Amino acid sequence: MPSENDRPKKISRREFVKGAAVGAGALAGTSVLASCAPAAAPSGSAELPAKWDKEADVVVVGGGGTGCAAAMSAAEAGAKVILLETAPGLGGESSLCVGSISAPLSSLQKEQGISDTAEDYVEDVIHSAGANGSRSDRTLVQFLGENGGSTIDWLVGLGVEIRGPFEYPTHHRVNRMHMLYPNASAWPKVLRSAMEGKGVEILLETKGVELYTTCDNRVVGVKAVDQLSQETINIKANKGVVLAAGDLTGNEEFKKRFTSPENAAVPAAHAFNDGSGLQMGMAVGADVTRLDSYGSPGLRAAAPGPNVSVTGKQAWMPYGMMDAGAILVNKDGARFVNEKGSGTALATMEQPDRSCYMIYDDVVAQIFNKYPMVVSSYPGIGEVSGQGGWGMVDDFISRNGIKTGETIEALAGEMGIDPAGLKDAIEKWNGYAEEGEDPDFGRPTFGHPDAGTVGAGIKVGPFYCHGPIKPMILLADCSLAVNTSLQVLDPYGEPIPGLYAGGNMGHGMMIAGGHGTHMAWTFTSGRLAGENAAALEPWS
Ligand SMILES: Cc1cc2nc3c(=O)[nH]c(=O)nc-3n(C[C@H](O)[C@H](O)[C@H](O)COP(=O)(O)OP(=O)(O)OC[C@H]3O[C@@H](n4cnc5c(N)ncnc54)[C@H](O)[C@@H]3O)c2cc1C
Repeated sequence: MPSENDRPKKISRREFVKGAAVGAGALAGTSVLASCAPAAAPSGSAELPAKWDKEADVVVVGGGGTGCAAAMSAAEAGAKVILLETAPGLGGESSLCVGSISAPLSSLQKEQGISDTAEDYVEDVIHSAGANGSRSDRTLVQFLGENGGSTIDWLVGLGVEIRGPFEYPTHHRVNRMHMLYPNASAWPKVLRSAMEGKGVEILLETKGVELYTTCDNRVVGVKAVDQLSQETINIKANKGVVLAAGDLTGNEEFKKRFTSPENAAVPAAHAFNDGSGLQMGMAVGADVTRLDSYGSPGLRAAAPGPNVSVTGKQAWMPYGMMDAGAILVNKDGARFVNEKGSGTALATMEQPDRSCYMIYDDVVAQIFNKYPMVVSSYPGIGEVSGQGGWGMVDDFISRNGIKTGETIEALAGEMGIDPAGLKDAIEKWNGYAEEGEDPDFGRPTFGHPDAGTVGAGIKVGPFYCHGPIKPMILLADCSLAVNTSLQVLDPYGEPIPGLYAGGNMGHGMMIAGGHGTHMAWTFTSGRLAGENAAALEPWS
């Protein structure tokens, strides 16, 4: 979160509009400050610095999927690019995600002989957004449908390994789910070397805190702060700035403005996404959409296999197994929540180590060993079962993502859960399942009729567990308003000159229904925002 000193100054929209009218056409002067009529001030950001410390054509704020794509495409278009990233490494949430990118019309899709259209994609994305679908901006979804496939081709061309597309029947009518391979942590290395090859200057541990604008609100640079020395770096952007700083999930105070303190306290997947990019845009008059979507808390288990990210928190969570009869317990082995209710993440916040574990028996496990009953999508996970991007129980066991024990005690020992507590909880649960009533937490279902597990309890060994499972906010969909050129819009729908955004903080009312749509938007919006910023005329 920006410190008191970093915090951008407030802008009055009325003053800006007045300033824009007065200042229009005056930008051609050699000194921008001199071109402003005194009556128009103040507008935009702080005064321009007396001296710029660095200079580029395009400055990109944020080095996740959106930012790296923007920096790369701008550099490919011949621009001199500076990329700012608060964290010590590139990747952001885009390197922690499952790795699905759902888009139509890629070469990989065509190689499978699949016939698809952008229009069908739009229908499927809007349908997958459920009740929110009717609010979605069709123009932006159409834009994604038209450009998502070529973005996947572009990434492949740069050396990013992508496999598929695989099916996702509940979201997409044909195979569109492409997967980053071997997982989502691989692409930053590829894009980093590609960017360096094109001369992009990457400033890690450097946070963008404020946009510089002229008096007619043309964005002309970025104030950044070196996170180690706390020194200010003023960077001139001759052509444009791309905001690609992710969402606000890492900023508890910001979230508290839109949700309960309990929800706001749930940690983010990527804590560096502290809403500072959104604030930078808001401070120069950007319109904001969906501030009510601060992100809902969910549960996620650690990734199978070795940790793959800077934070080691890549994640998956098979809620379907709870439908079939799995339970959640804490480190003491005790159940603590109605597993079928909406409060599992907040209840987990109250447990020892803020963690829980999912437990089930061999009956449930074998159901999830037969396609199409899958545990989760995950790149490369289906190598044991041969199901591509989808993993079954045995796939996850082979990657250490699910642990087993011949007895409850052995499983507890393997997981570091109290064995007596777990045995007691399972005996109790088996009784509740038989009676069809959970007096402790009021869970309404005790298995699934289609799976034949109603009332079956947890009785047949071996027994299975995955965890520790942590509560986290995965993403929030509040965003700056953008158009199909990725220009950031003001509340009157007018582009703010020189300012572009993409990814989680730049999708406007493009509601990313269905798995893989966020990453499709991330790379696509970043690529085209960078290209468009690079095509601008220099402001001075
Ligand atoms: C566990 C999990 C699984 C997911 N799985 C999928 C999936 O499989 N498919 C899918 O489509 N979506 C998935 N998502 C969502 C998807 O990961 C995000 O929508 C996407 O990564 C957002 O990309 P971004 O570039 O906007 O943000 P990020 O990738 O987070 O990049 C933002 C970057 O900006 C940096 N930053 C922030 N503020 C500043 C600042 N002021 N100055 C400089 N740098 C700054 C951050 O450190 C970060 O590196 C998943 C999300 C999670 C958490």
